[in-house]
Amino acid sequence: MNDPETGIPVEESTEFAAVPDAFQRLWTPHRLVYIQEGQQPEENDCPFCMAPAKSDTDALIVARGTHAYVLLNLFPYNSGHLLVCPYRHVATYDEATPEEVAEIGSLTQTAMHVLRQVSSCDGFNIGMNQGRIAGAGIAEHLHQHIVPRWALDSNFFPIIAGTKAVPRLLGEVRDEVANAWPL
Ligand SMILES: [Zn+2]
Repeated sequence: MNDPETGIPVEESTEFAAVPDAFQRLWTPHRLVYIQEGQQPEENDCPFCMAPAKSDTDALIVARGTHAYVLLNLFPYNSGHLLVCPYRHVATYDEATPEEVAEIGSLTQTAMHVLRQVSSCDGFNIGMNQGRIAGAGIAEHLHQHIVPRWALDSNFFPIIAGTKAVPRLLGEVRDEVANAWPL
């Protein structure tokens, strides 16, 4: 069959092998530029590499360990959303050394204690997105999310307005968590 406007031969979808399912497809080739190019920083402009050189208050750091450190996420899902990062610019968990893995684990435990103490949260979401395809915002530098959860902390803002309601300011939360962090 030919395209009615251009006269160029086109292949009909029925000519291809396929397994139909319940989903519709929204084809978005214009988004390929984001997937292929992304906005992944090099080591010399990586925010997780640059943060430790700044003051704790400027970088929103709450604790510094030997191999890893803890800071507030600039884009929190909830008040008190912390990130635990190794100092080294490594992308995935299996690239971290045993010392880094151990300290990321112990800093995560301490963060849970501290967040429970200062914010009386009811639960946590903890995890690492490994790679851009898995949702990592900065895929090139490993970071563990610690998100405190409260009963009734969800609402429809993210769905209807693309907006996350975060009731407390970052600097205020940083001071509170840093002050409660055991030395
Ligand atoms: Zn980095």
